[in-house]
Amino acid sequence: MRARQATPAELRSPRIDFRLGFGIVAPNRRVNAMTTDAAFQRLAKSKFRSRFRLSEADREYIAEKGMETIRRHAEDFVRTRLAPAHPPNDGRQTPMRGHPVFKAQHACACCCRSCLEKWWKVPKGTDIPPERQSRIVDFLMAWIERQGCSPKPAAAKKANESHLTK
Ligand SMILES: [Zn+2]
Repeated sequence: MRARQATPAELRSPRIDFRLGFGIVAPNRRVNAMTTDAAFQRLAKSKFRSRFRLSEADREYIAEKGMETIRRHAEDFVRTRLAPAHPPNDGRQTPMRGHPVFKAQHACACCCRSCLEKWWKVPKGTDIPPERQSRIVDFLMAWIERQGCSPKPAAAKKANESHLTK
């Protein structure tokens, strides 16, 4: 695909860089593409973000529910707790534990609108459009997978058990 010049309207309002996870391009700035790997490398530099880990209980919950269900939960949390321009209780809407997606949100700096703005340049006070919500969910699910939860954990566990009992 050929690159084209941004239109004046696009330069006035920030636009989404689709090569980024869900960041936006500031007016008149060059696109600063960031891969998911680069985003995780950035997060790894933060003591606070990098200390989050899934517990055994979280893993069991994920294995029991399946990754598709966990993704639906993540979609719901992002849509209802982050996406509105002014989410209720912003800054305190994401508990530190209680659901694996909550931990992913803190680990990925997707816990509140201030963190989304500070880390990923998602502007506060604006609705997050559905396509960017999906990018956030992709990112959270990538973190969960990196914690060693594969898309088919239940099957993997069974195979492992049968191997051990033989
Ligand atoms: Zn936050």
